[in-house]
Amino acid sequence: DESSSSGSPILLFSKSPPLRLPRMPAKRVILLGSTGSIGTSALKVARDLPERMQIVGLAANSSADALVQQAIETGVKHVALTDAAAAAKAQAQLPDGVTLHTGTQGLIDLVNACEADMVLVAIVGTAGLAPALAAIERGMHLAVASKEILVMAGEAVTEAAKRKNVNLLPVDSEHYAIFQCLEGHRHSEVRRILLTASGGPFRQLPADQLPAVTVAQALKHPTWTMGRKITIDSATLFNKGLEMIEAKWLFDVPMDKIEVVVHPQSIVHSMVEFADNSVIAQLSHSDMCFPIQYAVTWPDRVPNNLRPLDFAKLAALHFEAPRVDDFPAINLARHAGTIGGTLPAVLNAANEVAVEAFLNGQLSFPGIWHTVERVMTAHQVIAHPTLEALIEADAWARRQAKG
Ligand code: NDP
Repeated sequence: DESSSSGSPILLFSKSPPLRLPRMPAKRVILLGSTGSIGTSALKVARDLPERMQIVGLAANSSADALVQQAIETGVKHVALTDAAAAAKAQAQLPDGVTLHTGTQGLIDLVNACEADMVLVAIVGTAGLAPALAAIERGMHLAVASKEILVMAGEAVTEAAKRKNVNLLPVDSEHYAIFQCLEGHRHSEVRRILLTASGGPFRQLPADQLPAVTVAQALKHPTWTMGRKITIDSATLFNKGLEMIEAKWLFDVPMDKIEVVVHPQSIVHSMVEFADNSVIAQLSHSDMCFPIQYAVTWPDRVPNNLRPLDFAKLAALHFEAPRVDDFPAINLARHAGTIGGTLPAVLNAANEVAVEAFLNGQLSFPGIWHTVERVMTAHQVIAHPTLEALIEADAWARRQAKG
């Protein structure tokens, strides 16, 4: 090699002229869950990068007015609303030429009706699973925000994606970080995945005060503004538990290589430790536009209007161990992810029901993990379940959690 024999360093980037790649057309994206926190951030990214991202389909549950507004703004030809009353309301307001798909089948119909390159799955819970699988069958890449679909059916989703040769691009900020830390490295050299967690609003609350936690307190996340369900999951640490299982599927790593580190500032979004004890981390401000943009532009990085980090102004970055005895969610998820089969689906479904009950004032805050543990203990695990068996386990767990 000339440069090394002459003693000068090998310059990998700075001297090469910019690559002249053929101009790519904007990626055509269907937004499932367009009226939610992730959905509205995705619309922001599309507004910021119109040459990169074109919205071609929109779906929500019952937010008729917001969906109609979005349809007018984006000029899409297909939308879906699962709620029948909301769909009837939207129908009257939608511009001519826009087809409205309805019911849960409407989500699948939307995916089948649109010509798209990618589907962003940002529906809270598992309702995004069927349209995600439909998208894979049509050869569309997935940007996955709905971690619940990977927790419930990670094997089915990843196998279908491999079979159809489609990419699963992570939109969860931690997995977006891990994805970047892993790029260009060998899987066999990964020693540990270090998922960072803000610790939630009760990071320092003494355990004996957790039973008195109110819904309003639990909905006040210290660093992120998100939908209600994920905000409660962040307070119980079930969000981190679900993310551990999500990481297992996205990156094909066993649960015992996935660890959680509490980092209250939410600047380091996750890290990977390699065989040589070197750790690579990814840092940015906490704004979901970062992961959404990268899922859409990957493997390219393009300039945007997002706030850069100013290291001179950053306060200290702090790390600590999670309180796994006071917040059992991490160990429950580790157990579910290790056993596998139908158990993660059961954990996820019981958690969804328990969070809803907590939000409705019917369950205490610790009642969330007590419910999940009770349902998991009562479950007879099926190893390597079919999709039907997973759906059945999900329904069973919901009934048990309510009981
Ligand atoms: P929100 O509650 O803010 O939004 C949920 C979206 O899903 C809304 O558009 C809602 O429509 C739609 N929706 C709910 N149920 C259905 C259904 N049955 N059929 C069709 N659409 C439905 O949630 P978030 O945006 O916070 O979260 C979405 C997903 O992304 C979750 O899985 C979450 O874990 C994940 N995520 C979120 C992050 C965040 O920063 N918010 C970060 C990382 C992951 P409607 O408005 O009509 O109710």
